[in-house]
Amino acid sequence: MQLAELGERASRGESITREEALAVLTTTDDQLLDVVAAASKPRFAFFGNRVRVNFLVNLKSGLCPEDCFYCSQRLGSGAEILKYSWLPPEEAVASAKAGIAAGAQRVCLVASGTGPSNREVGKIREITEAIKADHPGVEICACAGFLKDGQAEALAESGVDAYNHNLNTASSHYANICTTHTYDDRVDTVDRARDSGLSPCSGFIAGMGETPEQLVDLAFALRELNADSIPVNFLLPFDGTPLKGTNNLTAHDCLRILAMVRLVNPRSEVRIAAGRELHLRSMQVLGLHIANSIFLGDYLTSEGQPGKADLDMIADAGMVLEGMKDAEPVKPTDVTIRRRGAGTAALPNT
Ligand code: SF4
Repeated sequence: MQLAELGERASRGESITREEALAVLTTTDDQLLDVVAAASKPRFAFFGNRVRVNFLVNLKSGLCPEDCFYCSQRLGSGAEILKYSWLPPEEAVASAKAGIAAGAQRVCLVASGTGPSNREVGKIREITEAIKADHPGVEICACAGFLKDGQAEALAESGVDAYNHNLNTASSHYANICTTHTYDDRVDTVDRARDSGLSPCSGFIAGMGETPEQLVDLAFALRELNADSIPVNFLLPFDGTPLKGTNNLTAHDCLRILAMVRLVNPRSEVRIAAGRELHLRSMQVLGLHIANSIFLGDYLTSEGQPGKADLDMIADAGMVLEGMKDAEPVKPTDVTIRRRGAGTAALPNT
């Protein structure tokens, strides 16, 4: 396999094949820089040196009746996380504005649970309209579980740009990570979002015992769903969840997974999501040469690195924030993002 040729092909917008995707995942550590270089070709061809920064606002935390084994907010979770039911809209808007002031171009409004009631869709609409009144250029992505008839359309009408609903793992592995809903249920909501004019944002969590073949299945499933944005999470093995202590990933594995996803989905936004700091550690900046998007600051129930460290990393990589003029480099700046702090997700022996 000629890795450079895969990168050239992807930079023309063509996907690599399943066999090639599997081969990328099984490259050896001494090929790592060649893998990163190949995946960087489409990254720079379609996104230049720009990085999209996303900011999470956790509207509702914990208390979910679903049992996703990886999730700190699941039914019966013993994880020490903040639990609350719907932030007051003013607080959600203030939090979003803090993220925007720090450089975020997309705000992700997230609520735990099976799916929103129509009243809860109304709350997301209200918060979206308040954010957009002051920041019309900022994108809003909602993430609130399974959508019912009319809800995607209602969100789109209010100015919500995108809807996040992750596949999380391959169809053939789904029953091993959740018993209360199915993979097909998840696909249904991604379809509803896309068909209603919302930009489909859908990704997965690596490191949950899936095989390389199943990771390849996921990358191609997301291609078939036309996912505009693909968040790639690396398992945070929360204490108090069934996957506590699971550690199947090296930093090199994470980079190979990101590269495979990029080479299968050359034109999609690839986002390094939760687990970036824990699993990539000092290799994070190499990830920016493959992915074109990260979260700023904290995740839903766990701390990320400080927002200033994220912006400094982008600046050190010679990259610019999406939405700024290419000539305008990221300026390392003091950023204060409210810490969530209560979650614990430690790898064994750390
Ligand atoms: S991933 Fe979503 S649906 Fe599953 S337990 Fe967590 S909050 Fe609930």
